[in-house]
This record gives sequence, C-alpha cells and structure tokens, in this order.
Amino acid sequence: MGKINKTQEEWKKELTPEQYRVTREKGTERPFTGEYVHTKDPGVYRCVACGEPLFSSSAKFDSGTGWPSFYEPLSEDNVSTEEDTSLFMRRTEVLCSKCGAHLGHLFEDGPMPTGKRYCVNSASLKFEKKDKG
Ligand code: FE
Repeated sequence: MGKINKTQEEWKKELTPEQYRVTREKGTERPFTGEYVHTKDPGVYRCVACGEPLFSSSAKFDSGTGWPSFYEPLSEDNVSTEEDTSLFMRRTEVLCSKCGAHLGHLFEDGPMPTGKRYCVNSASLKFEKKDKG
C-alpha cells in the first residue's frame, strides 16, 4: 500500500478550506458543527483527503462530545497514532496512515468492547453510505 505525499499547495487545491485546516493543519472543528455528528446510517467513513477506508458505522457511538466517535478503526493498519503535547495537554493524535491527514484524537474512555474513543472531525471524513440489498 503506497503512501501519498502531496505538497500543501496540492492539498489546498483539492480540499475545502475547513477540510484543509483540519487535515493538514491539525485543526479541530467546533463541536456539534460537523456533518457526521449524528449520522447513524450504515456505511464506511473514508479519509476525505485520500479515500482510505477508516471507520465503520458499526463502531460509531454517541459520545455526546459533538464529534463523530468510534470505538475502533476498520483496521489498525489504516490509522496511525502520534503523541501530541500541544495546548499543554498530553493527547494521542490519530492520523490517516496513507496520507497523513489529521483525523482527531484517541482517548481511553470509550465503550466496550475496546474501551477506546476515536474522536474524529467530520471534516476529515467522507461518508459512503452502504447500498441496500
Ligand atoms: Fe488519507
């Protein structure tokens, strides 16, 4: 699986300003403003930047935080994590492993079966609704 390396200028052309700010500048959308906060349809959430499948609707849960939340990724290979000590906090950043897009943060207060909470910006995701039948 090849990695994608584009320049910031190339990303800027392909993404909306909000998508660019979140995925390439590690921004955070305001809570309860994202497109997928309340989405419950079955389907797959892909990386908005490169299309990599990242999360399944079956792992999505209502965290009450205002951001789409998942208790596990589709595959551990598709997301990567890094320590983030910005804003005087110690957090775990979650990124798309294929293109390096910033997705959000990982917390250890999620529901079973994993106890994990992947707190992800809607702006980093592109939802692909599963076709019926
Ligand atoms: Fe990506």
